[in-house]
Amino acid sequence: MIVKMRRVATEREIHAVEQRLSELGYNTGKLTGTDHTLIGVYGDISQLPHADISKMSGVEQLIQISRKYKRAAQKGDPLNLIYSSFNIGNVPIGDSLVVIAGPCSVESEAQIVASAHMAKEAGAHVLRGGVHKYRSSPYSGWEGIGSESKKALKKGLDMIVKAGREVDMPTAVEILDHTTIPLFEDCGVDCLQIGEPNSRNTVLLNELRNTELPVIHKRGHSLDAEEYLLWVERMMVRGKENIILCERGIRSHTKYTRNTLDLGTVAAFHYQLTGLPVAVDASHGSGIRDLVHPLSVASVFAGASVLIAEAHPNPMIAKSDGFQALYPEQLSNLIRAATAAWKLRENMKDLYIPSRALEQTYESRVDEDAAHFFGE
Ligand code: PEP
Ligand code: MN
Repeated sequence: MIVKMRRVATEREIHAVEQRLSELGYNTGKLTGTDHTLIGVYGDISQLPHADISKMSGVEQLIQISRKYKRAAQKGDPLNLIYSSFNIGNVPIGDSLVVIAGPCSVESEAQIVASAHMAKEAGAHVLRGGVHKYRSSPYSGWEGIGSESKKALKKGLDMIVKAGREVDMPTAVEILDHTTIPLFEDCGVDCLQIGEPNSRNTVLLNELRNTELPVIHKRGHSLDAEEYLLWVERMMVRGKENIILCERGIRSHTKYTRNTLDLGTVAAFHYQLTGLPVAVDASHGSGIRDLVHPLSVASVFAGASVLIAEAHPNPMIAKSDGFQALYPEQLSNLIRAATAAWKLRENMKDLYIPSRALEQTYESRVDEDAAHFFGE
């Protein structure tokens, strides 16, 4: 929220407002314009005595700037960002780097068991694999091992859960249809993924409010940050919190890569807009196997704490997205590189200075510097 002071407000009135807000426990930041002084108020303003503040001498208006996505929004102030943490199965999310790896789709029992061993040996934490796939063409001939019926879906889910348990890895599987949520839960899937095409599926998102399972919500490729976070908010309105954001590429004029991985928005999510963990899926984000490694490492530095990577025991015979799937050796090295990047990011944490920390210092020098630089 911003307290806008009247044009004629005196220094004493401005100071009184700052002091009152500080007594109430709020951090404030002052912006002195040519006409008006604005006082930014940080933190949870739900308990702020709005009427009292607006009646204080010199106050013109209280301007609400809190975000439309109230639950998905960052809860702290710029100097004290607050992040949520929770688990996928026994894997803690948020405070350490987590890699979710596996094939685009579960293709057979032998393939998903081999994939689980590959992911485990490479150092991944969660096993992924789609059982019912979205395909861009209805003629692709492969819609996933569980696409034909609920019975087939159950069989596919059982396969990946069993393979995951064999190597002690929780599983993340995409869900297409809200009526199958109980089936995913009963089969023991540990995390539900909402694919890009369902990013704004009202019925599915509404229904996911009620599951206790964590959800990875992939950003629709045409959604801007606020639109996307409002779709995320839809799942959170009744208190659900265990949601992972996921950048997986947006549409742009660039044709070389399958999508355009929007790392700027990943940084905005992590450093400015929300406290939710951010995943990056560079496999769908680039569609090019050899770009998954550099983009995943870059994602860690941009603010991701979860990486999703498609990998296959032999991508040459994968039934879907084989062209972007990592070879097992590549997955292994990617996880080594990403882990090193994570350590470096942790070590560099204190080098990040939010502008808010410097604004008062520079503001106090405005008159002196203006006189010095411009003779004003
Ligand atoms: C997937 O993760 O298998 C997938 C199809 O991704 P997306 O929904 O991001 O295209
Ligand atoms: Mn895929």
